Amino acid sequence: MTDYLFAPPERVSLPVVGRTERFPVRRLLCVGRNYAAHARALRGDPAREAPFFFAKPADALVPEGGEIPYPSATRDLHHEVELVVALGRGGVDVDPLDADRMIFGWAVGVDLTRRDLQAEAKAQGRPWDAAKGFEFSAPVGPLTPAADMEPPEGALRLSVNGEVRQHGRIGDMIWSPGEVVAQASRLWRLAPGDLIFTGTPEGVGPLARGDRVEAVVEGLTPLRFTVV
Ligand code: MN
Repeated sequence: MTDYLFAPPERVSLPVVGRTERFPVRRLLCVGRNYAAHARALRGDPAREAPFFFAKPADALVPEGGEIPYPSATRDLHHEVELVVALGRGGVDVDPLDADRMIFGWAVGVDLTRRDLQAEAKAQGRPWDAAKGFEFSAPVGPLTPAADMEPPEGALRLSVNGEVRQHGRIGDMIWSPGEVVAQASRLWRLAPGDLIFTGTPEGVGPLARGDRVEAVVEGLTPLRFTVV
């Protein structure tokens, strides 16, 4: 037994639909941009720009939503609804076809963003960490095992107080989930427990205290949270 100076941080985890065991989360990677008009036509196009990634700390995860405090240091908190891929196996430099087999399951997530800080970081060529990687910035719903469903292809949408703000289709991703995993594996040694946010369609916008958010991907358990 290792002795620690104080209690080590708790392991973050997600519930899994139909299982009693929880999915232990190792880290959160996110794709910066992955939807575009006529994206379908871009699939298979070698000229398409490689996806870029950023990270959030694992303790940014908010399993199953609930109440999310409005973060400090921003006046422009934005929602980004995303399909989240959960890895059950690791890999390095994997082929997109093998990457599909690394996927343990799927969930709905929202990449909460301090948009004003992100705009400032972009303008000054600075890192995005403070804009993306803060506490409570990654609410994610329960995982559905990939073994229990077809890969998601249908609608994803986000509503605020019952009004639809974002609406897109998983099938319109520029980079498919398997391709995203494969690309990430060229940059990092992926391992079981890694979650990858796969990007958001158009319609991102601000949230205010009191807003009730519902994020949906067809075939998955919806994610709900309230900004407090
Ligand atoms: Mn995002």
